[in-house]
Formats: sequence, structure tokens, C-alpha cells
Amino acid sequence: LGGTKNVEELETISENSGIGSRILVFVRLRPMAKKEKEAGSRCCIRIVNRRDVYLTEFASETDYLRLKRLRGRHFTFDASFPDSTNQQEVYSTTTAELVEAVLQGRNGSVFCYGATGAGKTYTMLGTVENPGVMVLAIKDLFAKIRQRSCDGNHVVQLSYLEVYNETVRDLLSPGRPLVLREDKQGIVAAGLTQYRAYSTDEVMALLQRGNQNRTTEPTRVNETSSRSHAILQVMVEYRVKDAAMNVLNRVGKLSLIDLAGSERALATDQRTLRSLEGANINRSLLALSSCINALVEGKKHIPYRNSKLTQLLKDSLGGACNTVMIANISPSNLSFGETQNTLHWADRAKEIRTKACQQNEELLQVPESETDQAKFILQLQKEN
Ligand code: ADP
Ligand code: MG
Repeated sequence: LGGTKNVEELETISENSGIGSRILVFVRLRPMAKKEKEAGSRCCIRIVNRRDVYLTEFASETDYLRLKRLRGRHFTFDASFPDSTNQQEVYSTTTAELVEAVLQGRNGSVFCYGATGAGKTYTMLGTVENPGVMVLAIKDLFAKIRQRSCDGNHVVQLSYLEVYNETVRDLLSPGRPLVLREDKQGIVAAGLTQYRAYSTDEVMALLQRGNQNRTTEPTRVNETSSRSHAILQVMVEYRVKDAAMNVLNRVGKLSLIDLAGSERALATDQRTLRSLEGANINRSLLALSSCINALVEGKKHIPYRNSKLTQLLKDSLGGACNTVMIANISPSNLSFGETQNTLHWADRAKEIRTKACQQNEELLQVPESETDQAKFILQLQKEN
């Protein structure tokens, strides 16, 4: 049997083994909002066994008890979070392992997907009292670094950007739009600020400032909804020695992504300018869905180039990276269509295979002159 396989097939099999071989998909249900209650909403979502999500027009407690089973569409995810789930639990289940992997020099990414008002920004950024995944990940990262060493061997750098209307902007130092370029690490935004971070408190302030720079526009769906995609990248670099005493430089990168609302532009009924934005947001999200489709179907050509967002996510979707998707949904039957749409894409994303996630490491060049070598060794001894 083995003899009939061609080389290409063999490579794929070995690449698919190990962690990071599939996108992990989680669903988070948010509590019913006051506005939704006042509008007479019924709950159309029920989560059972921490994994199964039922989407139905009749999912009230009494209906459930009466029918003893749920009717409607059924989905299963890696975990599904009921509306009582706190931020720490969401972080621990979805992202903590990725932070550990980043500290081993591997790449990881987490993105929140869903309609406007479904809870993406709450999940990613959160509030001062209830910080979200971005903040908890950085806090955990610093705690883990402190456990490992107290000598400043690890360098943590942050960048925060947004894609708005097919334009890439630096959220840490707003200015002219950034140009995307391909280099050996993948697609990068040229000139993006890399901020060296030393503590969690400082990062929290930085993120909030960055978030205020995000382009937000009133829409009918949600007055403070963001029409932009925000990407936080955390890069950790440090040196290690291997068994042969070679000094290696390791780099791990964690990308945390808060996507703009996935609702169709038509649903928000906006005027000319807004509909242009809507079209572009759709273009990015449409491109994202085409990429997901192409990846699921195992196509050779994945249309990453169709939008800025998919160019930036190329690494996360089809690359050697641990990838997590969190689909955010509202419980209200008034959002039935959007929720169905979100669950459909989340269900589809489960099928995406990613390449095995290797460690990014590079042998450090040892200086040539003897005095420089002595200095280099002294420096390393200090660091380790
Ligand atoms: P999105 O970013 O998807 O447009 P938001 O994160 O802004 O949505 O959430 C909309 C509203 O719902 C906000 O007021 C937010 O504080 C609230 N919210 C969202 N998720 C939760 C949650 N899990 N618990 C409590 N409030 C939430
Ligand atoms: Mg938001």
C-alpha cells in the first residue's frame, strides 16, 4: 500500500501529525442584553455537555423539560461556553496552552468571530474589572517568564494594528497607513511599531490606548460597534542552549485577533459611505470565508491575496501555527440569522487542517575575534 502513495501525500501526512494539526473551535454565548429583554427576546440557544450547541426557536427551559430533547440544529465544538462562563475560564480553555507553546518558540493565534454585539471585544479585550484574553494571555506570559528566569533573557515585544476599509493602521502610533510586505517570516506590515514590554500593567494601559485609536462608527445594530479588525501580536524572543551546547535564538509569536462584525452589510441598512465600508468589511470577511472553504476542500490555491485581513491571517490559517477560533453568539432569537451564520462558519472551520507547529529557532553566530568571543560567553553566562 505504501508503495502506491506519491511523495506529496507522504509529506502531507507527516506534516499533519503532532499538535496544531487542526483549528480548535470554541463557541461563547453571551448573557441576554437588557435591550434584547426589553424587545421581548426569547433564548434560541441551549448549550449541553459543555460541547453541544442547539440552535432552535424553542429552547426555553419549559420547552426543554416538556420535549425532553431539543429540536433544531445541533453543532458540536471543542468546547462551548454557556453565558455564565467567566473570562479566566475562557482564557484557560482556549489560549493558555498557546501561551505555553509560544514560550517554546512556536506560533499561535486566536481569533474571535461573530456578529456585531455578540461579544468579540468583550472576549478579547474585556473591561478593567473583567480583562479578556489579550490581557490574561500577557499576564500569564509574564508570570511564566518570571518562573523560568529572572535575568531578562526573554524579550517581549508587542504590536497592535487594525484593518479598516482595506487599510492597515498602527494602533500604537497612529499615522499613515502601513504597506503589507512579504518577508521570510511571512506577511508583515512595514514600519509597524514594536513596543518592548516589561510588565502587565503597562500593557493593559497600552492596549486601552490602542483600542481608543480603533475606528468605531455608529451602526444601527450596535451604537459602539467596531467596523475594524484588530490584531495584537506578542513576540517572545530568548536564547537557549541545546545538548551540543550550541546557542539558539528562539522566537514565538502569538496573534490575538478581534474581527469586525460578520453581519452582512445589507442587514445594517446604512448610507453611501457606510455601505462602502460594509462592502470592504464584507470583502475581508468574504475573503476569509473563501479561504476557509479552500482550506477545508484541500485546494492547492488558497486566495489569501483577496484581502488585507486574509494576507495577515495567512500564517494563522494555513501555516505552521496553533490556531484557535472563538465564535461569539447572542442568545436572542432576534439574532437567529446571524447566529446561524456564525455557527455555520465555526462548524466549517473545524475541518481546517494546519501544518505541524515547529519551533522557530536559529543558531546564533559566534563572534570571530577572541576578545569578542570572551565577551559573548560572559554575556551568555549572565543570561543563563
Ligand atoms: P462585539 O465586539 O462582538 O461587537 P462586544 O464585545 O462589544 O461585542 O459586546 C456587546 C455588549 O455585550 C458589550 O456591552 C459587552 O460588555 C457585553 N458583553 C459581551 N459579552 C459579554 C459577556 N460574556 N458577559 C457580560 N457582558 C458581555
Ligand atoms: Mg467589537
